Amino acid sequence: MNLSDICLTLCREIHKLVPYDRAAINLADTAEQFAVYAEESRLPAPAIPQGFSTVMGTATGWVMRNAESVICEDILNDDRFPLTHQRYRSVGIRSYIMLPLIAEQELLGVLNLGSLVPKRFGRKELELLTPIADILALAVQNSRRYEESRNREEMQKVLKELSQDIAVLDVDTLLQKLTEKIRDVLKVDVSDVRLIVNGEWRSLGVSGTEPGSLQPTAYGAGRGLSRSVLQSGQPVTVSDMIPADASTAQRQTRHGFRGYAGVPLLSRNGDVIGVLRVLTYRARQFSQDEIGSLQQLAGGAAIAVENARLFEEVRRKSAELENAFKLKTDFLNTMAHELRTPLNVVIGTQQLLQEGAYGKLGDQQQKALSRIGRYARELLELINEILGLMRLEAKKVPLHPEEFAVRDVTDDLELSFEPLAREKGLRLEITVARGLPRVTTDRLRLREILENLLANAVKYTETGGIELRVGIENARRPKRIVWSVADTGIGIRNSDLPRIFEPFYMAEGVDRRKYPGSGLGLSIVKKLVELLDGEIEVESEPGRGSTFTVSLPLPPKSKASCR
Ligand code: ADP
Repeated sequence: MNLSDICLTLCREIHKLVPYDRAAINLADTAEQFAVYAEESRLPAPAIPQGFSTVMGTATGWVMRNAESVICEDILNDDRFPLTHQRYRSVGIRSYIMLPLIAEQELLGVLNLGSLVPKRFGRKELELLTPIADILALAVQNSRRYEESRNREEMQKVLKELSQDIAVLDVDTLLQKLTEKIRDVLKVDVSDVRLIVNGEWRSLGVSGTEPGSLQPTAYGAGRGLSRSVLQSGQPVTVSDMIPADASTAQRQTRHGFRGYAGVPLLSRNGDVIGVLRVLTYRARQFSQDEIGSLQQLAGGAAIAVENARLFEEVRRKSAELENAFKLKTDFLNTMAHELRTPLNVVIGTQQLLQEGAYGKLGDQQQKALSRIGRYARELLELINEILGLMRLEAKKVPLHPEEFAVRDVTDDLELSFEPLAREKGLRLEITVARGLPRVTTDRLRLREILENLLANAVKYTETGGIELRVGIENARRPKRIVWSVADTGIGIRNSDLPRIFEPFYMAEGVDRRKYPGSGLGLSIVKKLVELLDGEIEVESEPGRGSTFTVSLPLPPKSKASCR
């Protein structure tokens, strides 16, 4: 049985003991206001207007304030509570008795019996009714406690849901769902979240009213209750925002709201970023429990809002970076093109000069010209490498996979590198494992990778040899084809190894007059290997040599052997 059924049943029981024409149970909503909770009227006239206020000098108000009973034998001879008497006269009530409802020293309301005949209630009735009022008070208190604990449980459920929603819902949907639940559980009329955006309030997740209607014009960010929450970082509650003597204009500025509770949304570092509000059209006292639950929910809402803001910032920054990167790429591309054209003219003219196209040259002039030629070609190579890397970074390199035999590639490489190795007094060995399948990949890109590695091997080796080995790596599934380039050269120190694939990185402690370079070759190699879905590794020992290993995936069903 709910509280109002209990109240009505008790009223009927009372009638058997103390007959009356009207019984009402008024329960306190707030310290200043209470409302008729249950009414059993046997009056011919309609019920008495409800919602008296204790400040208005009524009999119920007096009982509430003084926690004492009142008996009025005849309203016609009693001038204590004119307002009550005026109302009673309009429905014909002549006498009444009112008892305070007190449980554990808490004043919960008033039991109020009225009669159409004068002198209906006296000492005897008071004695009969006092224990009944005590029972009623206990019932009210129990029911309130039960309600409170149920609310607490419901709020915990909302909190749990909120913590799950944070990961999946966008902030608008999340706040909307949250305020709707709060309205439901706390039985408030309106709930919303106000955020401070550039010094102004912005309402989000408005539920219980049209979103636009709550636009904070009348009591904007500069003042108002939410402002106090913002400034104090503490919850603010007001059981009745409209004073009893408020003017119509005052009432309108509050949108008709009376009960208010606002709790702060605190950021991770403790700043107040907004306010979670609940509003009621009737005056309402929010309990500590309710405020505690609201604070917990505001904590969740704050995380959601902050996450959304961080996400937005990251998105904006990466868009900015992308833009900056594009600008840099465009700039370098244009520069490289602009440099390449005149440089080709320089090289062409230098060749013509050297070949005597413009007349015979002396020894000194020849030497100077070949220096010009060498540097111009190095510069051209650098520009080409930069262009290549830019294109790879912008992922503008189209792939043309084709099927071919391993030997097709190794034979080509042997042709180009054997003379270079021989010139330096180095051996070049090419070892291809037996029974290798045909390979499907972009052949030109693969060649570019191996050429770079072989060129480095020749460049950084003075004695010994270079070996290109091709085989199958069985350990991994699916199997991979492995191309390794080993040399017996100067080697690379451990401290340099992790960085040699970075653009423009050149190992320290290497004589650059003897080993000139740009530091771009290996970064291009790495990008190309990734483009072909492969991996590259390096092992090296200073003074003994280095081995670069490129492994590429094999198509699932490889065909006949190529040997
Ligand atoms: P570079 O044009 O300087 O050779 P790379 O990107 O090809 O640029 O290589 C980066 C650095 O790695 C080189 O400067 C060199 O110090 C080191 N390096 C690359 N390959 C070898 C190798 N086979 N032996 C020794 N050092 C190497």
